[in-house]
Amino acid sequence: MFSNKSGVLAIVVAALLPTCFAGWLVWDSLRGPGGGDETQRVLPLPSVSASASPRTDDANGAAAAGTPTASALPLAGKVVVLDPGHNPTDHEHTAEINRLVDIGTGRKACDTTGTATKAGYAEAAFTLDVVHRARALLIARGATVKLTHDTGGPAFGPCIDERARIGNEAGADAAVSVHADGSAAGDRGFHVILPASVHQGIADTRAIVAPSRRLGTAVKRHFADATGSAPANYLAGGTGLISRSDLGGLNLTTVPKVFIECGNMRDPNDAAELTDPAWRQSAAEGIADGITAFLRGKT
Ligand code: ZN
Repeated sequence: MFSNKSGVLAIVVAALLPTCFAGWLVWDSLRGPGGGDETQRVLPLPSVSASASPRTDDANGAAAAGTPTASALPLAGKVVVLDPGHNPTDHEHTAEINRLVDIGTGRKACDTTGTATKAGYAEAAFTLDVVHRARALLIARGATVKLTHDTGGPAFGPCIDERARIGNEAGADAAVSVHADGSAAGDRGFHVILPASVHQGIADTRAIVAPSRRLGTAVKRHFADATGSAPANYLAGGTGLISRSDLGGLNLTTVPKVFIECGNMRDPNDAAELTDPAWRQSAAEGIADGITAFLRGKT
């Protein structure tokens, strides 16, 4: 390919040279006698190389060499933002995470520490693990995946308004915030939280309520299929879908976004699942499958 490209470049240069040279002659004749200086005189010459810039050839070459398998992947060109709820070191930064931020419907803490199982497995560790697994699956399907934070990233947060902003500024086609709940023992199952229609202060979710519901419905269905878990038995009438207007991460989003509470860390049966790496892989598959279905219009 290299020799072919060089040949193409030589032809392009050869084709462009006469035109550029003619342009230089016109410029030189218009300049008239005694005008300009040596610096100006040579100015047209760099334009020859600029016109025959290898960038053009590189672009064509890349297209020709191509990565047909990458462009043929189901999520090629799609941007997904995954938001691992909380941060493993939030608890060391209580002053910072307790700062109040504007979420349109009120003010809430920048971030919260999250919950943990009775044995001490932190929600913040769970969310990062599931997000890493889901990211790998989505990248394998061709998506561009951005995380709101990652291991070794910020010491706390990001704040909930920043988590929303990251998805917005990425122009995400879909964003999912991953959590696990901290309800009473005996409360079991998962649920997906949808943005309510909010138009108050800096929050305006009206444009993303409908697509977010489609995203949430797909995530709910595929999460149930992948994990075998049932929708939460302690809220939303057992539907597994609930709309809320008190979450900054949803109020401030301008892209389709949902939260998923994968299970209840305070219930021993759910905790046994949440602490099992194989179950977390299934959870990640369910989330990735739901996002994939949504992005492919199969909701
Ligand atoms: Zn949480």
